[in-house]
Amino acid sequence: MPFPWLAERVAEIRSTIDAGVARGGRGQKVEIVAVTKTFGAEAVQAAWEAGLRDVGENRVQEAVDKMDHVTAPVSWHLIGHLQRNKVRHLDRFALFHALDSLRLAEAIDERAQGTGRQFRVLVQVNTSGEESKGGFALGELRAAIQRLRGLPGLEVAGAMTMAPYEADEATLRRTFGGCREALRLLQDGGLPATELSMGMSGDYAVAVEEGATLVRLGTILFGARVP
Ligand SMILES: *Cc1c(COP(=O)(O)O)cnc(C)c1O
Repeated sequence: MPFPWLAERVAEIRSTIDAGVARGGRGQKVEIVAVTKTFGAEAVQAAWEAGLRDVGENRVQEAVDKMDHVTAPVSWHLIGHLQRNKVRHLDRFALFHALDSLRLAEAIDERAQGTGRQFRVLVQVNTSGEESKGGFALGELRAAIQRLRGLPGLEVAGAMTMAPYEADEATLRRTFGGCREALRLLQDGGLPATELSMGMSGDYAVAVEEGATLVRLGTILFGARVP
């Protein structure tokens, strides 16, 4: 069986999450999104057998190719950037974590009008200030909320952020706290937002303390990715 350590690893992660929730004092429920990018369909199957129900991929083409080889009824999450000419692929995802522009939001809304379904999305925010990271700055998000409210094809369910790789704890807390601020902006703007997607293998314990409801874990579950 591939990934024989997985069930035990998931149990360890869940207890780290429980401890983080207790320390943070926010009482939120936290779901693990198993990030299977670069691994094959067997990683998805193994995740399912270890009790995980949500799987994340950062590239849409890799994801849809993999879906065809997976029988387990997992919920698929798209956690990476999506080009506007590929919004049709969102039909197969339960949640899109990386809404990073109004133009993309409008393209998704148009797809929704055409298919009669609403798409569940998270707004990606750049709260670390890193130039290389995509997403709305908080000021941009504030300015975009009215427009987002006017797009009935989107259910804006929350916010997502990525912290700098190997950041110190103060930077992590500032970045994740900024994402919480983004969620508050969405809520104050009248959007039905409750989710905070933040935390990866190296920083999920801090993210959970800061209120994460979805942690996106790859390496800690499946091992190092071979590019
Ligand atoms: C790859 C990826 C992850 C998982 O990263 P790990 O450090 O392997 O846990 C999380 N979020 C996004 C957006 C990713 O692309």
